[in-house]
Amino acid sequence: MIVTIDGPAGVGKSTVGRLLAERLRIAFLDTGALYRAVALAAQWAGLDPRDQAVVEAWLTRIDLEVSLRGGRFAVLLEGREVEPFIRNEQIGSLASQFSALAPVRRFLLETQQNAARLGDLVAEGRDMGTVVFPRAEAKFFLTATDQARAHRRWLQLREQGQEADEAAVLAELRQRDQRDESRALSPCVPAPDAV
Ligand code: C5P
Repeated sequence: MIVTIDGPAGVGKSTVGRLLAERLRIAFLDTGALYRAVALAAQWAGLDPRDQAVVEAWLTRIDLEVSLRGGRFAVLLEGREVEPFIRNEQIGSLASQFSALAPVRRFLLETQQNAARLGDLVAEGRDMGTVVFPRAEAKFFLTATDQARAHRRWLQLREQGQEADEAAVLAELRQRDQRDESRALSPCVPAPDAV
């Protein structure tokens, strides 16, 4: 069984997805972490999202994998868990820029679909119900106001001990949503059969 949860930034997809996966006793896949990992690796490599051809060639050498650990998929770059390095607004924004590129989406499509071969899962992201798992048994699309989402994100950043200005978080979130919703490839929109 595959359950998909899509929606804009900060809406609670991971929180709800994790709880649902626990309740159903199936795995949880946070696909935003994959795009964030690509952005982090690209930053380390000094790449610019405007250089699509360079990014495409570089993707053939990237060592990125997902590994099922205690019910959730961990994202590994060169064998190391990326989680501690990807949860900040700068990487979120960079992920949104790299995620608009066709070679990046192609590359991660396979990673995501391979994860589903390991068993049932709840997958969250932007295009789970529309592109990655169009035949999922249950699809959800979450929404909330910009302000509510920015406030949640701001609280999360503070909990992690990061300095953040709520107005700046709101501005960054709006810019990222705008980019994610208007891009040509896999825009963040509800699948026609999503609840
Ligand atoms: O969900 P999260 O904020 O971690 O995602 C970071 C960025 O990765 C998003 O803003 C979006 O551009 C991209 N993303 C995507 N498709 C997904 C998941 C994330 O394009 N399935």
